[in-house]
Amino acid sequence: MNAEIIAVGSELLLGQIANTNAKFISAELADLGINVFYHSVVGDNPKRLESVIKTAQNRSNLLIFTGGLGPTKDDLTKETIATVLGKNLVYDQEAMDHIEMYYKRTGRVMSENNRKQALVLEGSEILPNKHGMAPGMALHEDGLSYILLPGPPKEMQPMFSNFAIPYLSGRLPGKEPIVSRVLRFFGIGESLLEATLQDIIDQQSNPTVAPLAGNHEVTLRLSAKFLDSKIAQEQLDVLEGKIRERVGEFLYGYGNDSLQKAAAEQLKDKKLTVSSAESLTGGWFGKQITDTPGSSEIFKGSVVCYTNEIKEQLLGVSHELLVSEGAVSENCAKQMAEKIRNLTGSDIGISFTGVAGPGPSENKEAGTVFIGLADESGTKVYPLALSGSRTAVRERSVMYGLFYLLS
Ligand code: ATP
Ligand code: MG
Repeated sequence: MNAEIIAVGSELLLGQIANTNAKFISAELADLGINVFYHSVVGDNPKRLESVIKTAQNRSNLLIFTGGLGPTKDDLTKETIATVLGKNLVYDQEAMDHIEMYYKRTGRVMSENNRKQALVLEGSEILPNKHGMAPGMALHEDGLSYILLPGPPKEMQPMFSNFAIPYLSGRLPGKEPIVSRVLRFFGIGESLLEATLQDIIDQQSNPTVAPLAGNHEVTLRLSAKFLDSKIAQEQLDVLEGKIRERVGEFLYGYGNDSLQKAAAEQLKDKKLTVSSAESLTGGWFGKQITDTPGSSEIFKGSVVCYTNEIKEQLLGVSHELLVSEGAVSENCAKQMAEKIRNLTGSDIGISFTGVAGPGPSENKEAGTVFIGLADESGTKVYPLALSGSRTAVRERSVMYGLFYLLS
């Protein structure tokens, strides 16, 4: 089965919204082992939609539409599909009851337009909408499958997971399920990771390895297809082992883990507390670490010491040091980490000082960053030369800080 995702909506073409529906559906289909060969985007225009449908019919056998199922005039997806397939739209009583109930419950008056949402493609299976009014549809016709989903992600996603996936799974008899595992890396770029693992990536066909660059991190998706999911898991373990041997030091988590979550969990497990002294990050680290519920167990507090005066007066960083070496220096990071640790009585003191940019400061290049980590065994300072915008430098500094906390 090869799929094409057709997103309908002029907002997408105008750049007002991003096509996150295609992203979501593609990832879900990949997990099902269904290939996606095309993403199409078309405006709310029946002629152009018609031509996109005809093109898709010639090159794909699963057509998934999102958007244009609503009550307004520009919502024309099912009407256009009906025209192309030579099918009628018929009222679905259950959908109508659902819409009427919705209006009763919310005390709003239903307009004639809304009846339109209960019209469905003749012969289609209804995919219920638990978070809105317009039902989705699934239809099999002349060897092709059509799935129609609403545009709003909060309606589309649960409908896809709860109703479209079972529908599709029923059409994939005897197919080995795909078992995947996502490994999350930080501190190594996508190209270096790929180069380091090139022979493994090339040799693997089942399980497969696919790298993906994300927000300053890289993930590897390992996917295995075996009828027996226990064998799939074992194969993934073997492959993960080989990968760990080469780049294990950069691997920090799985699936939807994040650095902040991983760091918080590790501190919790080890019953350790941390406090931060933040210059270039302006409190960003404190924000990140407190995003995790229950963070008062692990985080005592933070001093945002942006100017030299505050570094000196609140933290007690030495005046001579600030004059001789500057705030963006290894020794300043060291003192900041040690001082905040002593000041708060935390197990760990972490510090961030550097040049966020865009220009240089203290004659040091933008992206020059020092992160200090003080604990009972002593103080380590990690120098970094980061590239990118001011925001990227600051964000990555915090991520590195969280990553060093883990190691
Ligand atoms: P409604 O009943 O809300 O009108 P609809 O099925 O008619 O739903 P559209 O009118 O096409 O869908 O889009 C409604 C909203 O859904 C858009 O304004 C946008 O916020 C979101 N949306 C639509 N298509 C996409 C997409 N491809 N990716 C992400 N969001 C989308
Ligand atoms: Mg609409």
